[in-house]
Amino acid sequence: MLIDLHTHSSVSDGTETPATLLATAQAAGLDVVAITDHDTTDGWAPAEASRPRGLTVIPGMELSCRWLVDGDRPISVHLLAYLFDPEHPGLMSERTRLREERLGRGERIAIALAEAGYPVTWERIVEASEGGVVGRPHIARALVEAGAVDSVDHAFATLLHPRSPHYVAKIDTEVREGIALVRAAGGVPVFAHGLATKRGRVVGDDAIAAMAAAGLMGLEVDHPDHSPEERDHLRGLAADLGLLVTGSSDYHGTNKTTPIAACTTAPDQLEALLAAGTGSVPYRD
Ligand code: AMP
Ligand code: FE
Ligand code: FE
Ligand code: ZN
Repeated sequence: MLIDLHTHSSVSDGTETPATLLATAQAAGLDVVAITDHDTTDGWAPAEASRPRGLTVIPGMELSCRWLVDGDRPISVHLLAYLFDPEHPGLMSERTRLREERLGRGERIAIALAEAGYPVTWERIVEASEGGVVGRPHIARALVEAGAVDSVDHAFATLLHPRSPHYVAKIDTEVREGIALVRAAGGVPVFAHGLATKRGRVVGDDAIAAMAAAGLMGLEVDHPDHSPEERDHLRGLAADLGLLVTGSSDYHGTNKTTPIAACTTAPDQLEALLAAGTGSVPYRD
């Protein structure tokens, strides 16, 4: 059984439509794939409608959250949420707020870049996102198109990095509130790429313990951005805190260099996750 629990489609910042994403998943030999676009469930219906026979699809989302730090900027944390009720009012209004937040923040980054002389426009970035949830990958592509950087990766390492003078933060959901919302909606919250230092600052073990106390159910341990040491550390924490362990690619089509199924989840962990999720059901034969 090959199981990948974290992928993005063009409904957010991946480059493949949900239907193409599922075809890619099946061609890669996956038995189970989760669709986890940022702050939206818009990919669920097209994924259900286009699911190839034999492939199980777990409906999910990656919620943009933050961990507040006394006397410093908040730390960005991503919360994967599986099998929640897509119509739970609290979670629905929070993801709507987050998408609006992304628009305001994206425009401010675009304006800051334009003022600094980079030939990008917010209108072009929104147009190129084709109705998907706008994120820095769309701005990165605009910078590549404009010849300002040679790759999306390069844009993230420089102009779009949290330490860049052009960066603007979003007001993301306080992560314990996010965990509570996902649980209230019958979902399974899993902390995504918790030690991925190349994304910026990461939280400490104390924060992960506090998240577990707030109802977190799993840690994404095997992720392309985690070193072997980071994986070992997270695996130990998951054992100590009684959390599920997941592995996934965080596939974004050609917006990232990672192939689908680059990391995978053990079948027993998937079974536990399926048993815990009560807000919606997987799409399967
Ligand atoms: P945002 O949510 O707008 O802050 O943008 C963060 C998104 O950019 C996340 O979905 C990441 O997966 C993606 N991302 C982070 N680093 C990179 C990179 N080097 N190349 C492509 N996408 C990235
Ligand atoms: Fe993304
Ligand atoms: Fe993420
Ligand atoms: Zn992701």
